[in-house]
Amino acid sequence: MENFRPLIFSETKETLAAALEAQGEKAFRAAQILDWIYKKRASSFEEMTNLPAGTRARLAEIYDFAPAELVAKSEQAGDATEKFLLRMRDGALVECVVLRAPQENAAEARSRKTVCISTQVGCAQGCRFCASGLSGWKRNLDAGEIVAQLMFVCRECADKGTRETGFTDFDNIVVMGMGEPLMNCEATMRALRIANASWGLGVGARRITISTSGVVPKIRELADDPMQFRLAISLHGATDEVRSRIMPVNRKYPLAQLIPAAKEFSEKHGRMITLEFILIEDVNDSLEQARKLAEIARELHAHVNLIPYNAVEGLPWKRPSGNRQMQFLKVLQERRVPATLRREKGAGIDAACGQLRLRNIDKETA
Ligand code: SAH
Ligand code: SF4
Repeated sequence: MENFRPLIFSETKETLAAALEAQGEKAFRAAQILDWIYKKRASSFEEMTNLPAGTRARLAEIYDFAPAELVAKSEQAGDATEKFLLRMRDGALVECVVLRAPQENAAEARSRKTVCISTQVGCAQGCRFCASGLSGWKRNLDAGEIVAQLMFVCRECADKGTRETGFTDFDNIVVMGMGEPLMNCEATMRALRIANASWGLGVGARRITISTSGVVPKIRELADDPMQFRLAISLHGATDEVRSRIMPVNRKYPLAQLIPAAKEFSEKHGRMITLEFILIEDVNDSLEQARKLAEIARELHAHVNLIPYNAVEGLPWKRPSGNRQMQFLKVLQERRVPATLRREKGAGIDAACGQLRLRNIDKETA
């Protein structure tokens, strides 16, 4: 992205203050600018009327404010999922998804919204079942491009008149879109700090979940990070044999390394982690896998999230029958492992990781 001006969304309060000073501007302007961006939701420097005109013009020369451009949108009636395909300035396609959970009780004024964001264009991890990995890794997103996805969603919600009082338009952030966040750790962490900061979007750290395929050294680094973000591990196999077959990362970081790293994270953070487990017919859905998974979950005091596999065009994998899904869940429940079988959302709108992008790339290259 060297040929583009930096996105204003990549600046933290500190880096923006330093950049302003380097321009001969007053550092305190940083707070004013961030207030315009994240609280008042300005979409240009021109709107920042408490800044001198010269400063506004200079900022517009240095930074790009351009939000990501919407290429495709899919939503399904009766399904509380919306998926956006965004084009970055270099043409790269990135997806983000908004999931609306039903109100938990009548006292809740509105449904809870979760935003799922991407951290890379494509993915190098090469998980066999995943649409994002199919065409390989293209590039990392920078922090500004990750924050831009959140800002896009904020704007989209506001446009539809669904913005409630206050300025946080969503309740949770999950880093579960395209890409492996821990292979783009610096930009991801910077973006999440901006999302979390009181001068930024103000989303509580415990409402932010990073999902990883299991990059062990980075999990250990995160364990020592003072930010209290939550961690989800995409396990998908309860033995090395099964996991290595579908996730090449397991050959580099097998379960004997992954499990202790996950344990260190959860002990240092004092919080339960989540084990994600996609159920794929005849690959990882045996009751023997369920028993092994229960052992791992008990050792880690982890919550298990079972996800029926979402078929990807061009890949042979299928989801198991509803009956098999329930049997698998029952094995976990009998062993008192907190587990949920995700009511699968958005299958009809290509909501699984990377699928909308894949379809559009196919169209464009067809
Ligand atoms: N790279 C990170 C985060 C992005 S993937 C990771 O792997 O954790 C987000 C989740 O979607 C992962 O748990 C991934 O395994 C899952 N996923 C990928 N393809 C899927 C599919 N076709 N159906 C259901 N879940 C899928
Ligand atoms: Fe990458 Fe995650 Fe897909 Fe694996 S599941 S290829 S790590 S995005």
